[in-house]
Amino acid sequence: MATQVERAIIPQELQLPGAPQAKLVSRQPRKKLVRRVEKDHSQTLRHSFQLGFLLMNIWLGSLFYLWVRYFETGTQSAFVERPAGVEGWLPIAGMMNFKYWLVTRHVPSLHPAAMFLLITFLSISFLFRKAFCSWLCPVGTISEYLWRAGQKILRRNFQLPCWLDIPLRGLKYLLLGFFVWAVYTMSAEAIELFMGSPYGLIADAKMLNFFRFIGQTGLIVIGSLVLLSIVIKNFWCRYLCPYGALLGLTALASPLKIRRSAAACIDCAKCARACPSNLAVDTLVTIKSAECTACLECVAVCPADSALQMSLPEIVKFPRNGRVPAWAVAAGIAALFFGIIGYAKTSGAWTTHVPAQIYQQLVPHANQARHPMPGDPELR
Ligand code: SF4
Ligand code: SF4
Repeated sequence: MATQVERAIIPQELQLPGAPQAKLVSRQPRKKLVRRVEKDHSQTLRHSFQLGFLLMNIWLGSLFYLWVRYFETGTQSAFVERPAGVEGWLPIAGMMNFKYWLVTRHVPSLHPAAMFLLITFLSISFLFRKAFCSWLCPVGTISEYLWRAGQKILRRNFQLPCWLDIPLRGLKYLLLGFFVWAVYTMSAEAIELFMGSPYGLIADAKMLNFFRFIGQTGLIVIGSLVLLSIVIKNFWCRYLCPYGALLGLTALASPLKIRRSAAACIDCAKCARACPSNLAVDTLVTIKSAECTACLECVAVCPADSALQMSLPEIVKFPRNGRVPAWAVAAGIAALFFGIIGYAKTSGAWTTHVPAQIYQQLVPHANQARHPMPGDPELR
């Protein structure tokens, strides 16, 4: 009789055929559940941020396209201001300019928005873990839409075996290492010359043209990434994105972490099953992993009161035992985003100032601009 009751309360997905009975019983909730009464709004908030940021990027991209067309048509089409926010798509320029600023203490005059956006996202990662990836990044948002679609169509997502997953996760750090090394070896003068070269001036137009005139190879690569993202959760973010790798490493220093109270936890494992980063939330006490994106999905599904929360270190007792609710994460992200960008805009440091005649010469021929290499006249 007792066995029947035990079997009845074991979730179906844990009833593995052929698994020993003792193992099944050990996964069932054994402690008394003190149910959480507070409603969780974290996912509504997060999805609103994701959608808002995705729409903002589409809007910026559309303005930038019109700006490029203005020069391509020889000023025959309607003029729109160049939206500096597109420089968020130039993370390497952001890193170069950040180094330039650290070395010279001068805000760079070309692509400064790339630097301010990098500083914003680094600050968000330091305070709120890798929240940029799951709250703001348009690529992260599209990745999430894709794996959720995959979950609906295929009824599940797939996980690579550990022997493949772990080395593949290292790829993004290798890519990051390469970019960091490249920027590290550049002097401030070399960065200034690179940014002032034709390639540096219209790197954003080249990026747009890559997608506008995408070739067969590009289509195959993007198509493969889309298919893999449907099958495997956040394929690009998990294995390949060097920007996410940088933010993840920054997040390791964050005082904020997902923390589990073993006393309140009923060992139901719902949190681990919900975690898009496949972290063992149900067995760890503190989630220190660089892969945690502060998506709060684990907290949202946890049924037990005070078992799982985003919080400050245990020594912080105020307010509410250092617990940081979803609305505070959202408010913090918004405050950093609008605060840093607002400062850059009001101080006049946000916009790149290049005479229209130069853009008129360069933008229509953007595809011919070549990446300058060490030793090239542009870098001397
Ligand atoms: S541990 Fe929680 S907050 Fe971190 S990635 Fe997993 S589900 Fe999201
Ligand atoms: S922390 Fe995880 S395992 Fe524990 S009760 Fe919450 S969802 Fe279940």
